[in-house]
Amino acid sequence: MANKENKVQDAFLASGFDGAENDPQYLLVVKNLKKYFPIKSSFFKITIGNVKAVDGASFKIKRGTTMGLVGESGCGKSTIGRTILRLQDKTDGEVYFNGKDIFALSKDELRKMRPEIQIIFQDPYSSLSPRLPIGEIIGEAVREHGIVPAEEFDDYITRVMEACGLPAYYKSRYPHEFSGGQRQRICIARALALNPDFILCDEPVSALDVSIQAQIINLLCDLQKQFGLTYLFISHDLSVVEHISDTVGVMYLGSMVEFAPTDKLYANPKHPYTEALFSAIPVPDPDYQMDRIILEGSIPSPANPPAGCKFHTRCRKCMEICKYIQPDFIELEPEHFCACHLYNTPERNKELEPALQEAIRAVEAAKADKKGKK
Ligand code: SF4
Repeated sequence: MANKENKVQDAFLASGFDGAENDPQYLLVVKNLKKYFPIKSSFFKITIGNVKAVDGASFKIKRGTTMGLVGESGCGKSTIGRTILRLQDKTDGEVYFNGKDIFALSKDELRKMRPEIQIIFQDPYSSLSPRLPIGEIIGEAVREHGIVPAEEFDDYITRVMEACGLPAYYKSRYPHEFSGGQRQRICIARALALNPDFILCDEPVSALDVSIQAQIINLLCDLQKQFGLTYLFISHDLSVVEHISDTVGVMYLGSMVEFAPTDKLYANPKHPYTEALFSAIPVPDPDYQMDRIILEGSIPSPANPPAGCKFHTRCRKCMEICKYIQPDFIELEPEHFCACHLYNTPERNKELEPALQEAIRAVEAAKADKKGKK
């Protein structure tokens, strides 16, 4: 199995990601990222398994663009975000920001880099201290990182607030005095004040009314144009993601199954899971006949994911090979990546045949063994 995993990684690295971290057009490059959380036994606290929250995610984001990250709840979207920000350790894989390996940075280097990478959370209220006035909330980290000289501090905070649609006289008010949309503007101002290159937007509009959502999305787009920001936009709202993103990654059970420019992905999804997901996007036309693909069964547990392709238990196009062999993450056409055996070349299928036969034999032997014990 170890050999198989190496083989998959080699194939994937050779097809579009190899050396991407040295290409200056990419601000963030993530290669085969994994984040497992150990499951401990209740008494001896021995690790008895792992929750594979992120289990092979690869993508790259160009400077000044937005990448959308979509997938069902619990598929590992937010865990990816927190891992690439190094808010938690990785289990495996590589993350490069501005050509630097994030996990190779010392504490000091990481601290210096912190202002460049910022985050906006889903719930603006719980991410703001109720005891601090808005001016302090926005300015706290500005002072800490010495972004501007002390004498310019007040003017600087005013300018940042105004860029985010907040009048300067809000500075002395407290978070509870604002609506949800205004609180999210405060969170955006707090991130923007550090003069970042990259902002991770973790479901930033999910908790807001639809009309307010549009205002926040437009604000993020305006700020991107004005300051050349790069976003990773995590959301389960496919319409919002289509509107704001240049590229989109689709996650299923911790793995990236498809990654492509937005127009290509929405016009012609290749992976059966992406097809099913996108078939549920509502169309604002009463005469339009939706052709929804209903997925059978529920999402398996990330503590015990299915062997082979993780989606095979719910895929209507499942083949024999899908139950045993994990598909490669290959580049189907320029910048369009997909992990599905449907797109294997005949040569690749031939190459995988011995591993498939061996896996089938191993499963049959395990079944026979189990029967024998009964
Ligand atoms: Fe479906 Fe097989 Fe493709 Fe997985 S690899 S999505 S099971 S066709």
